[in-house]
Amino acid sequence: EALDRIQALEPKLHSFLCVTADRALQQARAVDAKIAAGEEIGLLAGIPIGIKDNMCTQGIPTTCASKMLENFVPPYESTVTQKLADAGAVMVGKTNLDEFAMGSSTENSAYQVTANPWDLDRVPGGSSGGSAAAVAAKECVVAIGSDTGGSIRQPASFCGVVGMKPTYGLVSRFGLVAFASSLDQIGPFGRTVEDTAILLRAIAGYDPKDSTSLKVEIPDYAKALRPNFKPRGQLRVGFIKETFGEGLDSTVWQAVTKAIEQLQNLGAEIQEISCPRFRYGLPTYYVIAPSEASANLARYDGVKYGFRTPNADNLLSMYTQTRAAGFGKEVKRRIMLGTYALSAGYYDAYYLKAQKVRTLIKQDFLRAFEKVDILVCPTAPTTAFKVGENTEDPLGMYLNDLMTIPLNLAGLPGLSVPCGFDEKGLPIGVQLISNVLREDLLLQVAYAYE
Ligand code: GLN
Repeated sequence: EALDRIQALEPKLHSFLCVTADRALQQARAVDAKIAAGEEIGLLAGIPIGIKDNMCTQGIPTTCASKMLENFVPPYESTVTQKLADAGAVMVGKTNLDEFAMGSSTENSAYQVTANPWDLDRVPGGSSGGSAAAVAAKECVVAIGSDTGGSIRQPASFCGVVGMKPTYGLVSRFGLVAFASSLDQIGPFGRTVEDTAILLRAIAGYDPKDSTSLKVEIPDYAKALRPNFKPRGQLRVGFIKETFGEGLDSTVWQAVTKAIEQLQNLGAEIQEISCPRFRYGLPTYYVIAPSEASANLARYDGVKYGFRTPNADNLLSMYTQTRAAGFGKEVKRRIMLGTYALSAGYYDAYYLKAQKVRTLIKQDFLRAFEKVDILVCPTAPTTAFKVGENTEDPLGMYLNDLMTIPLNLAGLPGLSVPCGFDEKGLPIGVQLISNVLREDLLLQVAYAYE
């Protein structure tokens, strides 16, 4: 059914960079055979899933939506996709993204622009726009994305699905093509909180192949969800007052305010919380993320793998021409920003300063979590915008992640859950945030709200 749906919708939607139909059918038949033989099946047996195309899949192209990796077929499997396969999930294809996950609209893909299923003239958000659109359009049941500054939560909000960025270190990054290693985290998309919880359990857990992986027990998130969750004053929810200011669409403001009222009706005690350094998240991120990206992307030099220019006559021109032709505009912008911020003489003024501000932002959250259990704010300041609307305005595009970025800087988990529609019928998301490793509580509150 998923493959039929993909065939019918892809000509308009373009959520997938590659569809792995034969392999999917083979995997699905293997599950059928297991069931017929009375053998045990995995947590996700037979569930069609989309994988963002920045996760390495052995024998299957992994392009990061970049020309640089057009012909790259990884010789190894990422931990997350291996875990999914072990759980019986059936990968139907690799989903579109902004090149190397840099962007907020999926328009930075070198191959295609993914449409928002709710309005084909609008973007699905990004950078995991393909995964969000595929789940919203029922081309697959669940999907995997990566979130460095909001790339799961913002597209989830734009496409009316649930999307979650887990605590930094909960999900292994082994085999995820690195963008900004201290911020990158893989996470789940689902149409419901329960699906999201099931998928999170399947991908989470310690991995010796990732040095930042956390050694923690993974609870059965979905089993712990209670339909009649009634906290009666035991749940303290804080709305971040600084996020309800300038630049926030009035319809988003209304929908999120209503969501907060609904949380109150469930029995949560609502407080106003101030995170005064929250607004420095964006400028801090745009020093740290490009700095790390410039180092991570140094490996694409035409020597080891990926694209190599055919036109060079010496080594240096091979490097420069390969990088000039292989990377898109936004990726080059990030590399320029990053190498500048890291260069001698500027390091202290920009990179070191940004690291200090990062600590202050973390402290704001720590203080907030002394007073409340869950924080709430809009996921994105607007609903889905038109294709092309922000492409000439990189700063305008960056503003999309104003409310999602601080969590990556602090390593906290956050989730976007649908909370209504604007006057054009476009979905709106509300972001719920918990302290580190409280995904159980985060999912429970989202589930009770949903
Ligand atoms: N939109 C942000 C950026 O362009 C975040 C991307 C992400 O989370 N991968 O960097």
